[in-house]
Amino acid sequence: MGKYDEIKFAACQANLQLPVLGLVVFTFGNVSAADRNQGVFAIKPSGVAYAELSPEKMVVVDFDGQTVEGTFRPSSDTKTHAVLYNHWNKIGGIAHTHSTYATAWAQAQRDIPVFGTTHADHTTADIPCAPPMSDEMIRGDYELQTGFQIMNCLKERQLSYEEVEMILVGNHAPFTWAKTAEKAVYNSAVLESIAQMAFLTENINPEAPRLKDSLIKKHYDRKHGPDSYYGQS
Ligand SMILES: [Zn+2]
Repeated sequence: MGKYDEIKFAACQANLQLPVLGLVVFTFGNVSAADRNQGVFAIKPSGVAYAELSPEKMVVVDFDGQTVEGTFRPSSDTKTHAVLYNHWNKIGGIAHTHSTYATAWAQAQRDIPVFGTTHADHTTADIPCAPPMSDEMIRGDYELQTGFQIMNCLKERQLSYEEVEMILVGNHAPFTWAKTAEKAVYNSAVLESIAQMAFLTENINPEAPRLKDSLIKKHYDRKHGPDSYYGQS
């Protein structure tokens, strides 16, 4: 057993879920799994097809994005993951996709309004869309700055990363996170579903109202509140 086997396995499994869930095509997208005790995370190698992924091919990097173990080059988005792990100490997994509907909202530079209970089951806030990055950020250390763009957007809106585990980066695509890589991928799939439903809702009724506060609160609390009663746990 190598000391990084657990996160390499978790990262591989989570990455393999992306094409299964229809969230990526070709080599798009990436998921990472962190080990906070060792201060590292395992991430998909850059440009390797999903069909060819295995735990051994995962790249282990530290929270500054420096490779610690692995023969492949890590995903080109590695520094974005590193920044988020560095600053948000309760997350253990991050996923990035260019899933169609969520990416369309990002390209339209719009937050996804909370229209229904599916959305409210996961968060009470509209899914934020961070503004497109400035020319200065793009010309600089682009992937590193993408991480700061995500953090700044949540900070400006006074949203907690523990309550809102998903964001759109304007003109780019979604990023999601969670306590585990598996849950981060789940959040990517949920976000894509919410994005699709919101798109259809506005098409059917351009004047569709946001979900009313009482329903937002009811649905969020029954899953996440102190007296939650959804599921079996
Ligand atoms: Zn991307």
